[in-house]
Amino acid sequence: MTHADPARVEQVRANLAAARARIEAACAKAGRSPDEVSLVAVTKTHPASDVRILASLGVTDVGENRDQEAAPKAAETADLGLTWHFVGQLQTNKARSVASYADVVHSVDRARLARALGERAAAAGRSLTCLVQINLDEDSRAGVIGPRGGVDPGDALELAARIEEHEALVLGGVMAVAPREGDPSAAFARLQEVAARIRDRYPRATVVSAGMSGDLEAAVERGATHLRLGTALLGNRGPIVG
Ligand SMILES: *Cc1c(COP(=O)(O)O)cnc(C)c1O
Repeated sequence: MTHADPARVEQVRANLAAARARIEAACAKAGRSPDEVSLVAVTKTHPASDVRILASLGVTDVGENRDQEAAPKAAETADLGLTWHFVGQLQTNKARSVASYADVVHSVDRARLARALGERAAAAGRSLTCLVQINLDEDSRAGVIGPRGGVDPGDALELAARIEEHEALVLGGVMAVAPREGDPSAAFARLQEVAARIRDRYPRATVVSAGMSGDLEAAVERGATHLRLGTALLGNRGPIVG
């Protein structure tokens, strides 16, 4: 590739330092060690050159929410040895593609998807860590708004068991997005309860993927182990094309 734009490198470096400072401050306030909190850089809508810049600055984990964008980006940066996280809603017919490059799928929300991922990962000779996505939005659960992302908290253990059935899948823990309205801290507290219930039965399922650029402090306070940061690292996203 051509050399990275030095101005962009400096901008991302400064953003990364600021994000790490926020994480450290949040950990100090919560009495947690920053070592307990991993950062996943969500690179959606940003070019593969930004993935290279992040890697050059020490970022090891990157996330994407659409297969159409993630697949070519992962291929373009395959030489970097990064860990790829798939964090978006996933159609079953995309399972083969996602299982070919993703290491962690944060958005497993139904048994049928777990089965498709389990079969595709096995066929590819790969192991895939799966997180149960939990719906923390009571309004969407009641069918009041929008498409639901994730299972109801009460159905999480059942889906965890379905994931565990597949040899090629590793149950990693839980993931959630805070509802658009309301207090993210209260929502993440509900996630923390579900995470504890799953961990009681599956002690290795320790991942709590919660917190984005706007609410990482609340997520750290409520036990997040993985923060998914886009805007805080790479700036505002343009419109989604394609
Ligand atoms: C885009 C996205 C993020 C990152 O959001 P920011 O607010 O830009 O940090 C995190 N999680 C998911 C599921 C996303 O789609």
